[in-house]
Amino acid sequence: MNVNLAKRMGRMGTEAAFDVFAEVMALRAQGKDVVSFCVGEPDFDTPQNVKQTGMNAIAENKTHYAPVPGTPELRKAIAEYVSKTRHVKVEPEEVIVVPGAKPILFIAMLSLVEEGDEVIYPNPGYPIYESLINFAGGTPVPLPLLEEKGFGFDLNELKKLLSPKTRMIVVNTPSNPTGGIISKMDLEELARICKEKGIWVLSDEIYSRIVYDGAFESIYQFDGMKERCILVDGHSKTYAMTGWRLGYGVMNAELVRHFSKFMNNMATSTATFVQAAGAQALSGSQEDVEKMVKEFRARRDLIVNLLNGIPGISCHAPRGAFYVFPNVTQLCREIGFSDSWQVQQYLLYRGGVGVLARTCFGSRNEGEKEDYIRLSYATSQELIREGLGRMKAALADEGRIQDFLKEGR
Ligand code: PLP
Repeated sequence: MNVNLAKRMGRMGTEAAFDVFAEVMALRAQGKDVVSFCVGEPDFDTPQNVKQTGMNAIAENKTHYAPVPGTPELRKAIAEYVSKTRHVKVEPEEVIVVPGAKPILFIAMLSLVEEGDEVIYPNPGYPIYESLINFAGGTPVPLPLLEEKGFGFDLNELKKLLSPKTRMIVVNTPSNPTGGIISKMDLEELARICKEKGIWVLSDEIYSRIVYDGAFESIYQFDGMKERCILVDGHSKTYAMTGWRLGYGVMNAELVRHFSKFMNNMATSTATFVQAAGAQALSGSQEDVEKMVKEFRARRDLIVNLLNGIPGISCHAPRGAFYVFPNVTQLCREIGFSDSWQVQQYLLYRGGVGVLARTCFGSRNEGEKEDYIRLSYATSQELIREGLGRMKAALADEGRIQDFLKEGR
């Protein structure tokens, strides 16, 4: 059916992880057993104190509209939390609460990017950045993340991408999909450049608490960033609250007023009882978060070890988030696959394992020769062992590979 969509919809991309996960679910509905490493969400329960606060809030009838930028209680809790974790004083007026981290990305791009503006964003990166830059009418300018730099970027490469049209730079540390972390030095230099040239920084810090080696560093802490940076964080990953839909932005108070107008048009406010639970998450015990991160670290070590035991695959230990991004270039060459998409299809339909191809995270950079897959290890050690065992067996099975190459999935 021709639904006669507005032209701008043709410019909108998607988050492929959810499409592949839908394929996983369809296979499971047919009775197939699939171990999925597709979707990036903690498999832990939301901490009990947070759930209880949310339930109490409903019982207390906190079920009406909240103020558009968020409840005073939660904005204050976020301001205190961000002041402490980013070492910069933040006021509640500099905070806006929204349903998930994604809406801040959406509002920021549509409010600040003009037609024809250039936006530099990490590639491979979270696919929503590229989608939203295009949707806003901007020009996406990919900044390659390099395996040899622990999936950081080369500052000289970044400088070459700057132009008078550069309006915004997207930073994501720790990164989805690579788990890489941008060094404090690079963040500081980036902040200096953005301040000097009047470029907006959109700093996606949704994985700020899931860091394994050293302290988390935010670009927000550097000179000039309180005026030029939109810090994005939220409860989804840190407190295993993906389904509650709770996120926030921190930025100058003037910008908060404009973002509030956007939010007023888009969703009015974030669910009131969810905000009550969110305030409890930030101000209550952090023991569950610490346990979760400890377990993620053990899983990271396990999965990196198992991946490196598969011929043709090499995997660095990521320093944050809950993703690994192993290099499968050699594997593809050895078994005759053209690219990581074939690896994804083969493992899903012939191996009973769900992984994501490199191209789910942006098109290949110019001259990019290596190929990768992403696995989320937000799943039990038992399932990691089972899934990686299946992967190893499937990738060593000549007959199965030849059938797949002849017949497709
Ligand atoms: N930013 C990054 C880098 C992510 O990986 C995700 C979720 O996977 C989000 C933002 C979205 O977070 P939320 O579910 O809170 O909207």
